[in-house]
Amino acid sequence: MSDPINRTGLRHRFWERKPLKNMNQHEWEALCDGCGKCCLNKLEDEDSGEVALTRIACRLLDDESCRCSQYEIRHQFVPDCIVLRPDNLDTHAYWMPETCAYRLLWQKKPLPDWHPLISGTPQSVHDAGVSVRGMTLSEFDIPEDEWEEYVIEEPV
Ligand code: SF4
Ligand code: SF4
Repeated sequence: MSDPINRTGLRHRFWERKPLKNMNQHEWEALCDGCGKCCLNKLEDEDSGEVALTRIACRLLDDESCRCSQYEIRHQFVPDCIVLRPDNLDTHAYWMPETCAYRLLWQKKPLPDWHPLISGTPQSVHDAGVSVRGMTLSEFDIPEDEWEEYVIEEPV
């Protein structure tokens, strides 16, 4: 399986030596494991601040590859899609998936063995059962007031 994310030409285990804020764009993008979980809609309780994950995916998520189908031009379709950067990770880490590489490194935790940067293949994410492959429904098909019925536990 070819990797939709360019992880070639990177220094061996660069994430263990380089702080997130010093990474270049290539290194930063390569950290994404391709799980697709951040592209699921979440419900946030305004009072408690608790975040619940649903299986209702953003309209641009490809359920098979778990990738954004229009990543480079996604803001034309989904203007509020977040551009994660080292300087806004503090603001977003609380809602990000437990296994998200950005969140793990932000928490000073190691990347798991199934991460494509370690396994050498994007397939390992699906084999480990941590991606959203085959489990999403499109936000086009489910009215927003029914999303509560589709709350799930994060696959980890
Ligand atoms: S949750 Fe993190 S690792 Fe998974 S697709 Fe989103 S940014 Fe990438
Ligand atoms: S626009 Fe693309 S990257 Fe953003 S949430 Fe939707 S599928 Fe994910």
